[in-house]
Parts: sequence; C-alpha cells; structure tokens
Amino acid sequence: MRRVLVTGITGQDGSYLAERLVAEGAEVHGMVHGADAAVGEFRSRFPQVLLHEGDLADHARLRHLVHEVAPDELYNLAGITSVAYSWEHPTLTAELTGVAAAVLLQSALDVQIATGRTVACIQASSSEIFGDAETSPQDESTPIRPVSPYGAAKAYAHHMAGVLRGRGLHVSSCILFNHESPRRPETFVTRKITAAAARIAHDGRGTIRLGNLDAQRDWGWAPDYVDAMVRAARHSEAQDYVVATGVTHSVVQFAEFALRAAGFEDNWAEHIEVDTTLLRPHDAPVMVGDASKAGTVLGWSPTVEFHEIVRRMVEHDLQPVEQWDRTTPRGLE
Ligand code: GDP
Repeated sequence: MRRVLVTGITGQDGSYLAERLVAEGAEVHGMVHGADAAVGEFRSRFPQVLLHEGDLADHARLRHLVHEVAPDELYNLAGITSVAYSWEHPTLTAELTGVAAAVLLQSALDVQIATGRTVACIQASSSEIFGDAETSPQDESTPIRPVSPYGAAKAYAHHMAGVLRGRGLHVSSCILFNHESPRRPETFVTRKITAAAARIAHDGRGTIRLGNLDAQRDWGWAPDYVDAMVRAARHSEAQDYVVATGVTHSVVQFAEFALRAAGFEDNWAEHIEVDTTLLRPHDAPVMVGDASKAGTVLGWSPTVEFHEIVRRMVEHDLQPVEQWDRTTPRGLE
C-alpha cells in the first residue's frame, strides 16, 4: 500500500489530494497545525486520514514526522498562501514557506538514504517566483525573479528542491499558476468576488471592494493542478513543471463574469468599487504560463476553462454556506 505524507492537507489543494489518495486506497498521513480551525471538519470528512500535529516552524518535529512516516510520496503544500499576507509578515513567510520546505525535503533525502527506498517529493511552487517576467508566457526556463516576499520564499524552496534533486532526491517542483475552486478562502480575489457576488444577489444591493482591477492572471481549476502534482510525483524522473492553462483574464473580467452569473447581467459594473488600500506594494501586471512540458512529459492538460470555473464558484456560493468552505483564517494552509 502506498504511504503518503501531505503537509497543508486541510487547505484547498490538500483536501482535493486527500480525496484522491483515499479513493486510491493509499495510507494517507497529514500534518496539521493545532490552531487550524479546519481540522475538526477535515477529520470528520476524512476519518481514514491519519493526522499528525506539527508546526512548520518546529524543524525537529518536521524531521521526526518524515522519519516516523517514512512515506513513499511527500507533498509539501503547507505554508503562507496569501501574497497580500506575506507583505505584512515577510520573515514569517520566509520561515514557513521557504525554510520549512527545505527541512522537509532534506528529511526526505535522509529517509531515502537510510532506507534505500525512493521518497517521491512534490514541492508546490508558484508562478510568483517569476515576478515581473520579461517573457510571456512563462515556462520552466523563465528567470526566477520574485517581486513579493511570498515569491521570494517560494523561490528559495524551489531552488532547494533543485539542490536536493542534485543530491539524489526524487523531488519535482510544480510551478503552479493561480488555481481556484469553491474551497479557496476569501483571502484570494476569486473567492472574495464569488462570495461577494452571492451576498449581493441575496441582499439585492452592495458592492465588491477590490484593489488592482487590471491585474491579469492565469486561473485554472484546482483539482486539475492536484492531478498534475500526482502525475509528477509518479513520473520516473523528477523535474520542474509549469502548471497553467495558458489563458489569462483580468480581475475585472473575473468580477464581471461572476456578477453576471449571479444575475446582474446589465448592471454588474455598479457593484464593483475600487479600494486603493487593497493595492499591493508590487503586483505583476500579467501572469500566464506555458504548460507544454507538463503536457508532453506527464500527459497533463487543464480540463475546466475560465468561465466554467467562475460559474461553478458562483453557483456554489449561491447555496447556503457550508462550514467546509468557510474562509481559512490569515491565508494559512
Ligand atoms: P495571488 O496571485 O496568489 O496573489 O492571488 P490573489 O487571488 O490574492 O490575487 C490575484 C490578483 O488579484 C492580484 O494581482 C491582486 O493584486 C488582485 N486583486 C485585486 N483586488 C484584490 C482583492 O481585493 N484581494 C486580493 N486577494 N487580490 C486582489
């Protein structure tokens, strides 16, 4: 039976990954933080998953956990997940999103050496490592030049994955572009918009307060991105992969489509308000990825296009609120 350790298991990607691994019959272990409000709900949804308490800042605990579980596969999905939050807490972001990844991967290499068995690792990297890329679309050869504390922390983890791969660890770094679902917390603009559009539809009035309306992002469907990570873990050769749709839309286009889907066909623009306090110190204007390598090597391609993603999220938010999909506090997963 395949034994798998997942950090960040209660987050959006972690929960989709847990569903998939449990369905496959794997022995699934997840690391959770005691202060994570989502743990209770996760436990009742996934009684088969073995949860271990751990803190990304506690390196001894991380090492012990990887040695104790000695997994066949390790997915590092944990850390600060919000770029906006990382501007407020840059060094905490470095610690939890950067250094902790290096500790986990080094521990996996130690287990691999001690047991002689492969520990196939996935580092959930991010398009934020590219920052203001000079070339578009971005692929695996695009220079790494982050412009946010989150991007810098992810860049360090990405580089350490490469360093440890050079020492024999089977680790792939999946450079994930934005990927969304109804399980996104409202710290992300997509879910913020769809949740607000549903509230406005319910109340008949109100606005969505947004920062940079012109930012263009490559938004994909989260379960597709989880599928890419599983394919990468199970491929014979560990590599870096961009995971993206190759299609980009602006924040205002997302908001327009969400409001239309919520019933505001003609007057959607009246429900959007710009709040300059939500602008970031630095925000890449356009991000779009080229996932050709994931297509060729892993046989991966996105299955849900932009309008359908927005429609599914709005439809979900128009239903009565489920605890499962509430906002994750502070953008931590
Ligand atoms: P990110 O790309 O991982 O930072 O994902 P987000 O969903 O947080 O942000 C995507 C884009 O939306 C960024 O360019 C933000 O500047 C922009 N944006 C505009 N208004 C907002 C807002 O109110 N909240 C968030 N989170 N992002 C916003």
